[in-house]
Amino acid sequence: MNRRSRRCKILATLGPASNDEASVEKLWRAGADVFRINMSHADPEAMRETVAMIRAVEARVGQPIGILVDLQGPKLRVGTFAGGGVDLLVGQTFSFDSDPTPGDAERVCLPHPEILSALAPGHKLLIDDGKLRLHVVEATGDRALTKVDVGGRISNRKGVSLPDTEIAVAAMTPKDRVDLEAAVETGVDWIALSFVQRATDVLEVKRLTGDRAFVLAKIEKPQAIARLDEIMAVADALMVARGDLGVEMPLEKVPGLQKRITREARRLGRPVVVATQMLESMISAPAPTRAEVSDVATAVFEGGDAIMLSAESASGKYPFEAVTMMNRIAEEVEQDNIYRAIIAAQRAAPERTGADAVAVAARDMTETLDLKAIVAWTSSGATALRVARERPRAPILALTPNRDTARRLTAVWGVESVITKDAKDVDDMANRACKFAVRQGLAAVGDRILIIAGVPFGTPGATNMLRLAFIGEDGLRAE
Ligand code: PEP
Repeated sequence: MNRRSRRCKILATLGPASNDEASVEKLWRAGADVFRINMSHADPEAMRETVAMIRAVEARVGQPIGILVDLQGPKLRVGTFAGGGVDLLVGQTFSFDSDPTPGDAERVCLPHPEILSALAPGHKLLIDDGKLRLHVVEATGDRALTKVDVGGRISNRKGVSLPDTEIAVAAMTPKDRVDLEAAVETGVDWIALSFVQRATDVLEVKRLTGDRAFVLAKIEKPQAIARLDEIMAVADALMVARGDLGVEMPLEKVPGLQKRITREARRLGRPVVVATQMLESMISAPAPTRAEVSDVATAVFEGGDAIMLSAESASGKYPFEAVTMMNRIAEEVEQDNIYRAIIAAQRAAPERTGADAVAVAARDMTETLDLKAIVAWTSSGATALRVARERPRAPILALTPNRDTARRLTAVWGVESVITKDAKDVDDMANRACKFAVRQGLAAVGDRILIIAGVPFGTPGATNMLRLAFIGEDGLRAE
């Protein structure tokens, strides 16, 4: 077994540098808890092969592994140029129109009519991850005349970001719909939606997904920031997608937004992932910069549920070293005395529900009595999520009859899971909790643990019981 001693989870994106079974296992052993498949670079067939490979590793290591499929979303791109591209100079004018003929030094096609009609004077257009910046001076519905503020080369099919323009397009493209259905049919655990603008974008994915996967909203647009509350209310989890967020918002606003999103997500009990460029220099170097180490540490100090690697693990030269580095940073931060103080200071008041009252009491009891683990019997995972929201000092062991729940919880702060059938009665509940706590290496004979459950067993959302248990010589409950 490969037990993690850290609470913050690691997401590793797979790609050409790591998309084979031996690498997946090596990344998992180095500390990756969840694997991300980026559908910007995959089709359903490639995705299915990757999922099968991860599941083979999961069966071999005997621990649940999470899979997150990241839908490409409506990534906007310019058309093509007669010569492949042109250089734009500061102050010159340049047009975007609906004419599909290849572009030149004066114009290019923007093959999204709904965008041409939504553009208005003053709106900014950011090309190629913000490397070029233009603003609209005149918009006629099927053509937008712009002026160049930051010049550079614009070439075939470069991405376009529109921080000021409310786009009427659906959050999902036809490719996203096909990818989504293939992903949920294949049994992935998390679906991430890119370029979310409003709660209805998330609700549409949730409608199509049903209870087959959890849905994560990537926060990367100013329109989503403006509607954060409504998006958070419906998403199962959030991602601070700092790549696109830093294109569409001034870069200096990203750290504050990261803090706001992680705190708010924690208040609501929604898992939150901090993503992009965390160890960027490790794409080509075996060691990160001091600033990158500090950035990873900050996300862990903030109590984020997970930290993510993109190109570092997908296409970089040092994918295993990057995961190992993240693991070391997270472990170190979590042992720092200041960490507990920060985590405690950011704790939000419980909601007035039985589940939250039990979760608060569980945290309190483990701290008062130095209990070794909180063992939560959970069917949907909701109980484990509410306990994780308390960020207790003791690890959380989720016991669930539901394989999907165990896999989904791999992305949640402090939770590890074991798949086991529902408890028959209260004795069985306590005995097996002790047994699994020992087997998972969380507690030993002579230790005490706390067990939480809902009775009658198997009733979703009925967390109503707390039980203190002492582990006897045979590894079972002794009192
Ligand atoms: C991001 O923009 O930060 C992000 C995670 O999305 P992607 O990697 O799909 O660009």
